[in-house]
Amino acid sequence: MSTCQVLRCENPINHVHVWGPNPWGRIEFGICNEHKERIQNGEEWAIHNERGHHYANYLVMGDDLAGTGDNFVTRITSNQVMGHLTPKGENALKITLETQRRGSEQHDYVEFCLSPKMAAGMADMLASFASHNSPKDGAGEEQPSD
Ligand SMILES: [Zn+2]
Repeated sequence: MSTCQVLRCENPINHVHVWGPNPWGRIEFGICNEHKERIQNGEEWAIHNERGHHYANYLVMGDDLAGTGDNFVTRITSNQVMGHLTPKGENALKITLETQRRGSEQHDYVEFCLSPKMAAGMADMLASFASHNSPKDGAGEEQPSD
């Protein structure tokens, strides 16, 4: 590929943008002068994974970023109200997530209730994710698959 790997950019490649949490997971993108400068100046970008492909195909920036539909959680609050019960009569935990749409200033709120069983399952899932992605706790423990 000889043109910049940012979506919709036709400029020639002048630099290699490297992303990767670890040496065996590095991904390299050929990018143009303009996009190198924008990334260096702190502009937000995302990697677009084409469905069905193991490796990422291109970077998404600018107006295309909001179109990815990624909503990142910026705040989590919880509230265990006495008498707020699941359909089975257990105490429920009410969670409110404040999210921000990637590439925009748009904030949304998502509310949901968890039973004790679902709260425990979510805690396990999140703990697993955090331990595999934390530079302090997880780095260096994983081994390359090959
Ligand atoms: Zn470019």
